[in-house]
Amino acid sequence: MRLSRYFLPVLKETPAEAQIVSHRYMLRAGMIKQASAGIYSWLPLGLRVLKKIEAIVHEEQIRAGHIPLLMPTMQSADLWRESGRYDDYGEEMLRITDRHNRDMLFGPTNEEQITDIFRSHVGSYKDLPLTLYQIQWKFRDEIRPRFGVMRGREFYMKDGYNFDIDRDAAIHAYNRHMVAYLRTYERMGLKAIPMRADSGPIGGDDTHEFLVLADTGESEVFYDSAITDLSFGDRQVDFDSRAECEAIVQEWTTPYARTDETHDPALFDQIPEARRKSSRGIEVGQIFYFGTKYSEAMGANVTTPDGAKVPVHMGSHGIGVSRLLGAIIEASHDDRGIIWPEGVTPFHVGIVNLKQGDDEADAACEALYRQITAMGLDPLYDDRNERAGAKFATMDLIGLPWRITVGPRGLKNGVVELTSRRTGVSEELPPEQALSRLQEIFEGHRLGRGIF
Ligand code: ATP
Ligand code: MG
Repeated sequence: MRLSRYFLPVLKETPAEAQIVSHRYMLRAGMIKQASAGIYSWLPLGLRVLKKIEAIVHEEQIRAGHIPLLMPTMQSADLWRESGRYDDYGEEMLRITDRHNRDMLFGPTNEEQITDIFRSHVGSYKDLPLTLYQIQWKFRDEIRPRFGVMRGREFYMKDGYNFDIDRDAAIHAYNRHMVAYLRTYERMGLKAIPMRADSGPIGGDDTHEFLVLADTGESEVFYDSAITDLSFGDRQVDFDSRAECEAIVQEWTTPYARTDETHDPALFDQIPEARRKSSRGIEVGQIFYFGTKYSEAMGANVTTPDGAKVPVHMGSHGIGVSRLLGAIIEASHDDRGIIWPEGVTPFHVGIVNLKQGDDEADAACEALYRQITAMGLDPLYDDRNERAGAKFATMDLIGLPWRITVGPRGLKNGVVELTSRRTGVSEELPPEQALSRLQEIFEGHRLGRGIF
């Protein structure tokens, strides 16, 4: 993309309404615009990151054997009356009446809708295990929407639902989700810690939340610092293996890590003092096993091998896709702007032309632009007639992890400058070497074919 032809409405002033850094930078970098309280338009730069996060979530779900579908945002109240949640859910549910006076709602979550799909089409143990998921907009009429996309009213969520013959099989699905989530967050450059949590209005016994440590988080968390040393890396996992998934879950849930809702001071005090940490955290996902709560209420039964009919065991599993943009920025920024991790960056590399209009500099930038594109990477070329300082400030604010700076002086010596946004370190390299460096850097961060 050439910046002169792009739509990047960068703000000079810091918007007064933004209280936390991610909200400020998302507004200043022209990623989002508030439409009304807690509801945002996604401007082109914001949309690029949202779609990358979405793509990573899809890839990791599909890798775990889960199947994507798409359900509508508008739901009939009747299904929610069957589960009893129409009256229980409270004011966070946006209730709407259509022209025929039918009660509808904008879905805050989809347990009822997916259970209805399941009971209409599946009746036998032979069709299990089954995990269906979607990435779809949700609406919760939050009493105090704030912090930009972190606590919106309309927000984008991955919600997945597993259907299994018994508790053991459903616990395997739970474990599989935890493994897939650990991989997902790590690909986004995040450390998200699974913490034993409280189940809230979804209901159920087993549940973990995934929290990103950040001062601006809304949850208070307590953990053994040993857990922050764990990393998933590139280990291969057989998602069909109960033992393998369980071992990974064990590894990640053995060190103490809890939110204030489940915190147990006596247990916490048994950790050596130097490793006892408390801080704030941002919830970026949650997994639940809730057994037969919905299947019993809504008659979602399957026949077992010996012919009995039993309610199917279920769980639901969410990732806050739009909230993740805020969480990533909270975890990765400096006082000049965002620093995108390679896995989610809206463009892979910025090209800054120090002397627009200089024949040689223009030609070198054009050549780099073509070559980077041919490598399957997305460059953002700042081809505006601006001073170098302004171009650098824009690149720093929007947070591209790598920048190539091209100017007449370097070109005389046959070099361009490759700069890391994270470390600030610059290297002078011949253009071909800068390109092969980029190739290496992004090798492990390529997205696949998408969901089809
Ligand atoms: P919270 O406690 O933050 O209100 P929740 O526990 O009610 O969230 P879940 O039902 O667990 O939310 O939804 C799954 C994920 O969706 C959450 O982990 C979070 O990342 C995201 N999410 C929930 N509510 C919002 C919101 N209002 N705005 C943006 N993302 C949200
Ligand atoms: Mg939650």
